[in-house]
Amino acid sequence: MAKRTEPVTESDGCWSEGWWSEARHESSPNFGPRPLDACTELVVLHSISLPPGEYGGDGVRQLFTNALDWDAHPYFQTIRGMQVSSHFFVTRAGVVWQFVSGNDRAWHAGTSSHRGKVNCNDYSIGIELEGMDDDRFTEVQYQSLERLCAAIAQNYGIRYVAGHEHIAPGRKTDPGPGFEWSRLAHWPAISNWELPAELQESDKS
Ligand SMILES: [Zn+2]
Repeated sequence: MAKRTEPVTESDGCWSEGWWSEARHESSPNFGPRPLDACTELVVLHSISLPPGEYGGDGVRQLFTNALDWDAHPYFQTIRGMQVSSHFFVTRAGVVWQFVSGNDRAWHAGTSSHRGKVNCNDYSIGIELEGMDDDRFTEVQYQSLERLCAAIAQNYGIRYVAGHEHIAPGRKTDPGPGFEWSRLAHWPAISNWELPAELQESDKS
């Protein structure tokens, strides 16, 4: 059994119809086709935990597959009936789940715009990081995120990466101040991805 030992430098797996071989797959019914003229050029980073602040459970996977028991926790009542998804979910242990083919349109961004283009779901890949807006993320999460981004860069013509907070300002605050954007600038595989303008400005100071 050949098992990889160098997670970032070895090959980043392969893609089949928008599904990444290195992720655990669990299909979400919450997706649709991308518009025919859409060019998948953006990666959107999020943070999520269910219930908020509780890590390691199945809540997020259940939410994305419409399997969450709305009565299992008081918080779930506030999101009852919500139908959402993201392409990827990276747990705090660094496990990568995939729910929607990258070739399809997942439902993660909501009302949003990036560089003047609305409806980011049309032309983006959504990655949820298990976490909270005001928490930090784990070392293995960053390692898995780097591998995932490298694989996405191999298969899609990504030009930009942004947080949900940047494409839906005033409405969303994730992944939040605990996310270290400066790390992305040092990942060779995505060196051509543009960070949000706000961050480029703050990096200069
Ligand atoms: Zn979000």
